[in-house]
Amino acid sequence: MSTLELFLNDEEDTIAFGRELASAIAIDRMHPNKATELSRNPGFQIIGAIIYLEGDLGAGKTTLTRGLMRGFGYEGAVKSPTYTIIEPYEFEKSKIYHFDLYRLTHAEEVEYLGAEEYFSSANLCLIEWPEKGLGSIPPADLVIELTQSGIGRSLNCKNQSKKGLKIIKRLTDKGRNL
Ligand code: ADP
Ligand code: MG
Repeated sequence: MSTLELFLNDEEDTIAFGRELASAIAIDRMHPNKATELSRNPGFQIIGAIIYLEGDLGAGKTTLTRGLMRGFGYEGAVKSPTYTIIEPYEFEKSKIYHFDLYRLTHAEEVEYLGAEEYFSSANLCLIEWPEKGLGSIPPADLVIELTQSGIGRSLNCKNQSKKGLKIIKRLTDKGRNL
């Protein structure tokens, strides 16, 4: 078990962390600040993983996801799928699914969404409000918790699998700016 703790001063820091995370998840290790434009690199590949994003409303879970997508070179809108529950981002070789389970009344509702295929181990799933889906969603490889702290946010990232550990190791590798 490995833990990474960071303080994010502002929204820009949260986006920057998302970019770093994308670079740790991308197989060809894009530089976080020079993410290859998707139009030029639509075939980027990722380590599939289940990531739980925990924290209150407004903690920055969606902002982090937006930074992650920017890190993959995606420039489109990234909004919390509060009403649709799932927002798919499907590329040539990589499928990324962003979940917001806030509005679920029963965890089993996840199953009616046909989410089973989204949870394939090759895909990257980011799940906001995972506690609302417990029992119907796979266990996390990585749990990222954001907490409001003054005007910034503290971030705690811990692995719950070997795959999660690999991602944390790539995040904290020497020479990277965390
Ligand atoms: P959530 O998805 O957790 O409900 P959002 O990402 O939608 O939260 O909203 C977070 C809000 O907090 C946004 O207004 C964003 O600008 C702001 N924010 C994000 N990260 C930080 C940070 N590190 N420090 C201060 N404000 C932040
Ligand atoms: Mg959100």
